[in-house]
Amino acid sequence: MTVVDAGTVRSFRSAKLPTGELVPVLGQGTWGFAEDPRLREDEIAALRLGLDLGMTLIDTAEMYADGGAEELVGEAIVRRRNDVFLVSKVLPENATFRGTIEACKRSLRRLRTDRLDLYLLHWRGAVPLEETINGFDSLVRAGNIRHWGVSNFDLPDMIEVVGLADDAVCTDQVLYNLSRRGIEYDLVLWCQEHRIPIMAYSPIERGRLLNSRTLKVIAARHRASPATVALAWVLRQDGVIAIPKASSEAHVRENRAALDLHLTAQDLADLDRAFPPPKGPQPLAMI
Ligand code: NAP
Repeated sequence: MTVVDAGTVRSFRSAKLPTGELVPVLGQGTWGFAEDPRLREDEIAALRLGLDLGMTLIDTAEMYADGGAEELVGEAIVRRRNDVFLVSKVLPENATFRGTIEACKRSLRRLRTDRLDLYLLHWRGAVPLEETINGFDSLVRAGNIRHWGVSNFDLPDMIEVVGLADDAVCTDQVLYNLSRRGIEYDLVLWCQEHRIPIMAYSPIERGRLLNSRTLKVIAARHRASPATVALAWVLRQDGVIAIPKASSEAHVRENRAALDLHLTAQDLADLDRAFPPPKGPQPLAMI
């Protein structure tokens, strides 16, 4: 895929869904949007700039600001719906067969669209997976969603859901960043083998990573920002999508720059020392 950025045509890396469709590896998160009306215009402008720069995958959820984030996204993408790969999530308590269908229709109304590109179960709850999957299947048949997937599923849950639905499971959206590397021990490898992209949420640890001395040193080497380096690290491997949330245009531009930053072997070794990879299995971390 190519995007036009300030007059320059650049290539934008993509990840392949099990269905064969390509999606951009760098998208935009929306958790925390629509909570302060004074920030609304900036949040909308940030999302629109991200679209202009090729970050056309937008992640939201019925949970965020109680539907307010979906409404804000709906406003941001009005008249450019076809440019966007739109992701939303159903809460586990709504994820019965009927509940999934009704929750999706509410999300579609708030998002001012007739379809989601990807609909995720936000985390696993008490409803049997088969019921939620039947809800997703029915939504696919009706044209309300194009693909579905899961979020916060650890390896045993992934084995179970793929056993039930095979290559219909299009992603596992999980916490992944330099300070949360547990999934590298097993889940990342398993998903790569099954050609299921991981969608890394909180890829800069909600901003907490940015004070790391090592990140600052590496950022200075590249005349980049620590956020750019942290995202380039998440995106260093194929089959990983990152969805940073940014509410200012400056942050969006720094995040977009991650796609053009090549980390050297020395950078990667320094980051491994500061943020060691897992030595054994770890339970999935959630925010
Ligand atoms: P994040 O993207 O790691 O961090 C967001 C924070 O970092 C915000 O405070 C933002 O500030 C700041 N930031 C962004 N770019 C920056 C930059 N270039 N320089 C300095 N600060 C920067 O955390 P997140 O929002 O938790 O995760 C991203 C998205 O993943 C969410 O928005 C949501 O869509 C999704 N998510 C999903 C789950 C799940 O359970 N499935 C859980 C958490 C998150 P500003 O807003 O001021 O720019």
